[in-house]
Amino acid sequence: MKNIVEFGPVQFIRGTKGGRYPFCNSIFLESSGILIDPSSDREILKGLSKKVNSVWLSHWHEDHIMHLDLFEEATLCMHELDTPPLKSIETFIDWYGVGDQNKPELKERWRKMLVEMFNYKPRTVILDLEEERLELDGITVEIIHTPGHSPGNLSFYFVEPEILFLGDYDLTPFGPWYGDRHSDIDQIISSVNRLRQIPARTWLTGHEHGIFESNPHQTWDDYLKVIDTREEKLLAFLSQPRTIEEIGEAWIVYGKPKEPIEEFKLMEQISMKKHADRLIERGEVKYSDGKYVRS
Ligand SMILES: [Zn+2]
Repeated sequence: MKNIVEFGPVQFIRGTKGGRYPFCNSIFLESSGILIDPSSDREILKGLSKKVNSVWLSHWHEDHIMHLDLFEEATLCMHELDTPPLKSIETFIDWYGVGDQNKPELKERWRKMLVEMFNYKPRTVILDLEEERLELDGITVEIIHTPGHSPGNLSFYFVEPEILFLGDYDLTPFGPWYGDRHSDIDQIISSVNRLRQIPARTWLTGHEHGIFESNPHQTWDDYLKVIDTREEKLLAFLSQPRTIEEIGEAWIVYGKPKEPIEEFKLMEQISMKKHADRLIERGEVKYSDGKYVRS
């Protein structure tokens, strides 16, 4: 499998470990010196560092910024709504919901992981990218605000080669991810439905194989269907009253316990809480005495 795949002016850089977490796939626009999501392959990115004038982020998550430390001289650009965690490590950790847990050791582990594994350094100067069409050297880019995975999540449509970069709407069998404080299931559904209307020829994603050269019709459906499947499983599990801790231990999102267990359990709980709230709103679940149960 080639590590850099060129689609005219757009270079797709495959992440280490096949672009699986904690890595992602990067995009490089050589003609304008723009690198998107610098968490792919450290050696390749090192080789590019002199050519990169600005780094764009699709969103704030750690698996998209691991090698950002190689580009301290470059301008950092992202949607304003996603900038707070880049400016402060405490905010970063808080956005994962860790602050609510009253577990200082969990907070400490996150801090250590962000610094040691993800090379986290706060960035104070960040330029805002908004939904707009930019005529760059050699390529036109449409920046599309696609919130849900994160509040300021961005997707990029490269007009001339008709390439759509989907970032973490990655069309994997795992399905959409919404395990932190500000991710939003309804927004994810709207954003994915918007993205699938764009008449691209090539679709690139932030994780795993990441290249679709024909319209991934069925894959879009399967990807969104995961949300319904998780919600159905939760509803079935709530035939008896359950606390959010018990719901987290059912591993409906991840399928089985994952290490580090505390971190993943929290993401399960946060994801499931969002489903439970949707079910309450629809009158299918009620909450009392600290327990959720099917109505
Ligand atoms: Zn993400």
